[in-house]
Amino acid sequence: MAVGSGDRSADEVLDCTGCAVLPGLINLHNHVANTLLRGAADDVPLEEMLSKAASLDAKFTRRDVQVGSLLGCVEMIRSGTTSFHDLFYWEDEVARAVRETGLRGFLSWVTLDESRTTQHGNPVKNADGFVAKHKGDALVTPSVGVQGVYAASQETFLKAKELAERHKVRMHMHLAETRGEVERHRKETGLRPTEWLERVGFLDPRLTAAHGVWTTINEVRTLARHGVSVAHCPVSGPVAQGDPVGRAGDARADGPRPRHDRGSPFFACRFRTRFDRGRKARGPRGRVPSRGAYDSFLSGDPHQPSRLQLPGE
Ligand SMILES: [Zn+2]
Repeated sequence: MAVGSGDRSADEVLDCTGCAVLPGLINLHNHVANTLLRGAADDVPLEEMLSKAASLDAKFTRRDVQVGSLLGCVEMIRSGTTSFHDLFYWEDEVARAVRETGLRGFLSWVTLDESRTTQHGNPVKNADGFVAKHKGDALVTPSVGVQGVYAASQETFLKAKELAERHKVRMHMHLAETRGEVERHRKETGLRPTEWLERVGFLDPRLTAAHGVWTTINEVRTLARHGVSVAHCPVSGPVAQGDPVGRAGDARADGPRPRHDRGSPFFACRFRTRFDRGRKARGPRGRVPSRGAYDSFLSGDPHQPSRLQLPGE
């Protein structure tokens, strides 16, 4: 595609006079099949929502995941998203929806302890098979996910990392999403989640951690030292705990999780700036202006000019 007065010898030329022509947006954290869970647990705290969602998605069939993924992909296209990072099981069904719709999917098969999963079979083996099968695909970039410190033991984290290193792919996980997650982990291990992940040797430049809301400035430094990326989810933060920004966030949109049902990055972008306007910004570089919030959907940094950047770049 070309924009402007360049080569116009294309099969199709669109007159976009008076329109804004934007690059495709990137959603760094999604559970696209969860379009099917909309409204199912809107009125309960995150922990309750997770167990309610688990009991519902335990009944999902492959066909359900396929249909939910297709719906989510179509909605993303309608709101200008062309690439997304997904964390789920049965990612091969999500992959099918990605190819059918022509999006680019960075798909992480989620791992967690076998005793806690609703997946059929061993999650690490499932992830291994998924990555091996889809590596090198034009539209699907497979990777390895971990649900979070509340659902995965040290052994599971290290197996997931070994898998990612062996296949040379990225990793994706939830991190410090709620105060409860942090406090429970500290009680169990004596360490905050980021401290614990560093101790067990999981932090790595391959990792994109979603949320990162309940992090201390020292944890942010730790994440930066290990080259970890953070996908900020401005809508899910206040829904879960009343704080959308945290210290580690940039400003990309979360997907249509059951707790909020707007898949549009523009909605998340507007929400972020409006929420920020009414509060004292916590981030070391202060409040994010509207233009900065928009830029962050393209470049990942609300304080830097737009630049398309894909996970793994
Ligand atoms: Zn999530």
